[in-house]
Amino acid sequence: MSADPNCIFCKIVAGQIPSKKVFEDEELLAFHDIHPIAPVHFLIIPKLHIPSMAQLAPEHERLMGKIMMLAPKLAFEQGCLPYPEGGFRLLCNTGTGGGQEVHHLHVHVMGGPRPWKRG
Ligand code: 5GP
Ligand code: ZN
Repeated sequence: MSADPNCIFCKIVAGQIPSKKVFEDEELLAFHDIHPIAPVHFLIIPKLHIPSMAQLAPEHERLMGKIMMLAPKLAFEQGCLPYPEGGFRLLCNTGTGGGQEVHHLHVHVMGGPRPWKRG
């Protein structure tokens, strides 16, 4: 599962398509969704081209844990309101039936004052 030349998010990782970055390290990238449905709406992706959660293998356990640990930190930094009145929503669409349009694993992080647009 190395970079897929036809994958939009691999192109974002490679800097071939611009993005508004929220966070980057050697394994992960977070960037604003191009069509936000909430005041805060960004995506966290592994740089590795894993098509979806359906392809997760034991060696990805630490990486997925890292995404889950990063989500609240970035969410509050990006303007999600404090817990418990505020908070945020995580969404990981998996497969076409699950609403996945970009087949490079990504976790949506959404928050901020309501109302939100319908996704
Ligand atoms: P999915 O439906 O696969 O869970 O969500 C894919 C998300 O990626 C959508 O919310 C869509 O707006 C976002 N997206 C698609 N193409 C691009 C792009 O080129 N740049 C950015 N920043 N977001 C994108
Ligand atoms: Zn990819």
